[in-house]
Amino acid sequence: MICSVDDLPPALAASVTPGERDYIEGIRRGGALPFAVTPHFASLAGPGADDPIRRQFFPDPREALPDPFALDDPLGQAGHSPVAGLVHQYRDRALLLAAKTCAGYCRHCFRRVWLSSGTAGGGTGGTCHQPADLQPVLAYLAARPEITEILVSGGDPLTLDNDRLAAIFRRLRAARPGAALRLCTRLPVTEPSRFDAATAAMLADFRPLRISLHINHPRELSPECTAALALCTGLGIPVLVQTVLMRSINDDATLLADLFRRCIALGLSPYYLFQMDLAPGTAHFRVPLRRGLALHAELRKLLPAPAIPAYAVDLPGGGGKIRLGDGVIAGERVSAKGPELVLRDGAGRDWFYPAE
Ligand SMILES: *Cc1c(COP(=O)(O)O)cnc(C)c1O
Ligand code: SF4
Repeated sequence: MICSVDDLPPALAASVTPGERDYIEGIRRGGALPFAVTPHFASLAGPGADDPIRRQFFPDPREALPDPFALDDPLGQAGHSPVAGLVHQYRDRALLLAAKTCAGYCRHCFRRVWLSSGTAGGGTGGTCHQPADLQPVLAYLAARPEITEILVSGGDPLTLDNDRLAAIFRRLRAARPGAALRLCTRLPVTEPSRFDAATAAMLADFRPLRISLHINHPRELSPECTAALALCTGLGIPVLVQTVLMRSINDDATLLADLFRRCIALGLSPYYLFQMDLAPGTAHFRVPLRRGLALHAELRKLLPAPAIPAYAVDLPGGGGKIRLGDGVIAGERVSAKGPELVLRDGAGRDWFYPAE
């Protein structure tokens, strides 16, 4: 893991601006999301300030700008956490925060505050949930047969070693026999060497298991990454692709169509295209939601149906995921924070998301 500018590849190290250097120094003094990137992901980046890979991990002084819409817990997960380390928001699915670190940090991360501070943004008590801490989670799962899928997320669970991860899977399965597992990870993209044949074989032992992979740009599908993913698809492990829509990184229909077309060619399933969550320090990545709707409409013209992810947002403040499409915008208003769109969910409740 690269945690210092001076350890970056030379062209990237030379590209650091004085403003970025000051900001990174400030991060080191504490409080903000750490600067860390894997050697592989750094190798995919170009030195330009606008490079779409560089921008995803390079701390940007704009993160410090005030954002009236920012929420420390943008998904409102604290309100859906019945026991430390578990988020249970949908009847039949529960999400375990299995690790509190990532191999590198995405500047757009929605768990930014939780990962930065060591305190709970998600009602988690701020501890990393190693198997020893799992007992209350297991008891909760064991008592709820309606839960048929357990998401294993974090942080990135692949920062745990295979034995520890297998131990977690085994205990989850014992508590809720038959439940499918979903491993939420970015590591096959950021450091494919972590994802070797032994890892794929371990995961295959826990089928039904699927992987939910966070990938935002076609350049992230490096040869090393596609080889790692082929190990999964070859063993019958489905891979769902989740992409975050971000300004000047991937807010282009042709580029997104290229990404999703390549995904289906590799046997991966585009699943969600996410409108940004309102985490602090991420406003400069936000694409206006109306523009996202237009981009998604273009994708529907450019791609075959299996290549089109659902465009969705986690409603700020705990409303859960909602698909964005025709008719979802019920109006506009101006609040103390600024102009907002009114989004109406399936139950007729209104939620608010920034208009710009
Ligand atoms: C996203 C999410 C899920 C999974 O939702 P799907 O629509 O099945 O992908 C489950 N629980 C929580 C808390 C989530 O945020
Ligand atoms: S890998 Fe996921 S959890 Fe980790 S920093 Fe990136 S978006 Fe956040």
